[in-house]
Amino acid sequence: MSFNNIFVANRGEIARRVIRSAKESGYQTSVAYSPHDASALFVREADLAFAFAGNTPKESYLDIEQILNAARKAGASAVHPGYGFLSENASFSAAVTEAGMKFIGPGPEAIELLGDKTKARALARKLGIPTSDGTTQELKSDVEAIESARAIGYPVLLKAAAGGGGRGMRLVEREEELLQNLERARDEARSAFGDDRIYLEKYIVKPRHIEFQMLADRHGNAIHLGERECSIQRRHQKLIEESTSVILTPELRREMGEAAIALITSAKYEGAATVEFLVSQDLKYYFLEVNTRLQVEHPVTEFVTGLDLVREQFRIAEGEKLTFSPFLTPPPFQGGGRGVVAPHGHSIEVRIQSEDVWNDFFPSLGKIEYVRHPGGAFVRNDSAMFAGLVVSGFYDSLLSKLIVWDRNREEAIRRMTRALEEMRVAGVATTIPFGLFAMRNARFQSGELSTAFVEEEFTPEARERELARYTAHAEPYFTAVQRVQGERKARAEFV
Ligand code: ADP
Ligand code: ADP
Ligand code: MG
Repeated sequence: MSFNNIFVANRGEIARRVIRSAKESGYQTSVAYSPHDASALFVREADLAFAFAGNTPKESYLDIEQILNAARKAGASAVHPGYGFLSENASFSAAVTEAGMKFIGPGPEAIELLGDKTKARALARKLGIPTSDGTTQELKSDVEAIESARAIGYPVLLKAAAGGGGRGMRLVEREEELLQNLERARDEARSAFGDDRIYLEKYIVKPRHIEFQMLADRHGNAIHLGERECSIQRRHQKLIEESTSVILTPELRREMGEAAIALITSAKYEGAATVEFLVSQDLKYYFLEVNTRLQVEHPVTEFVTGLDLVREQFRIAEGEKLTFSPFLTPPPFQGGGRGVVAPHGHSIEVRIQSEDVWNDFFPSLGKIEYVRHPGGAFVRNDSAMFAGLVVSGFYDSLLSKLIVWDRNREEAIRRMTRALEEMRVAGVATTIPFGLFAMRNARFQSGELSTAFVEEEFTPEARERELARYTAHAEPYFTAVQRVQGERKARAEFV
């Protein structure tokens, strides 16, 4: 089977990214867009574009009926969901299939089993994969919450079974704070995910976030393409990702990779997935969750493996067999035999979000007045930005992703520093200054990472110092920040 037209049910940088691979595979592409996105680049680049009737996400990118109608009008034979929106929605996967099109991703059963955090935890335990202490079922009563938290010991984390994007999580340090937080977590989860089931996990102190990129075909083959480390986060959401991780020994990599394969295989999975783990300071690993879709940070894996993961998604969706064998033998960096995917070198991604890093990463809104895109050897810029783009706060604050590759981590850091220095965005504040801060930070350079990095290193004092430095050098992204703060107009000579 070969697709003729692929409908991309998403927006922003990921819609562009999928369109690019679709074109390279010889497919036509189609999209639907909200009025906010009428001038967006993905709309201009798709072969066919249909306007959604409504403005809100519910009336546009989350509206299954409208999406299917547009896909039918386009004559699409397959639908790619991107990430976010409907990408982990079992009903959407089922509806696409019922409409006679191929959903590029897993079927509804696999999404239901792996996408629900409590069910996935229960499955992991059944398979003997370590999970953090805690419940594998939703908390049904206050008494149960109190007893479960006592049994595992504080601090505990309340988490939404349907959670995603770092939302629906509350840290509880003492019993007195438990019930109040439980109620709040329920309210938040209900409004964010329309599902107020909450469960409880032992809070692992200062862990690293390490995840495995998975591919599985419908013929029962599942492989992993190595790990990504995503420990640099704010609000439990990733900011910087890299592959490989400095912390994994070949044994640990093999063990975690095998666990991830077991999980995916037991769910009869088809397509790309990510199995996420937390790794504690003493190098114990705990299964976290499965993302049943393409991940934001997939390009770092593409750089170290040389594979186009979206093209692989297309191939799997067309029914082809995976053509490479798993690289389960350590160390994965050394070239293996024929068809073995052996990652080489080091890749880093910095998420460029429209957020003010000086003000707790608060969303920054406005019109982008100027962009200078970074470039050069082994620099990839997956961007939705152009001069004139209005950042409305309606959608996720991710504007673009800057990804670099080099022979080793040290050189990759240098290349990323150079690329970030080259990049210019005026009109909204972005996370570029934070990216530079991290690249120049001694602890980041030494590879001593944890999810507490931002809190511990990007302290108010450090921010002051950074701010003074940017002022002194009159760095251009700083003018954008000032403009947002209403102190000074963005000045053309800096860009
Ligand atoms: P990744 O590891 O790929 O970054 P995230 O969990 O950060 O995964 O989610 C990627 C994108 O999808 C973000 O834009 C996030 O806001 C969105 N997202 C993820 N899960 C959900 C969800 N359940 N509901 C709404 N948006 C989600
Ligand atoms: P989401 O669906 O929002 O991505 P995850 O379960 O993947 O939620 O967790 C996101 C982040 O939250 C993790 O990378 C980690 O920083 C933090 N986190 C989640 N669970 C725990 C835990 N049990 N202990 C410590 N930190 C956690
Ligand atoms: Mg996650």
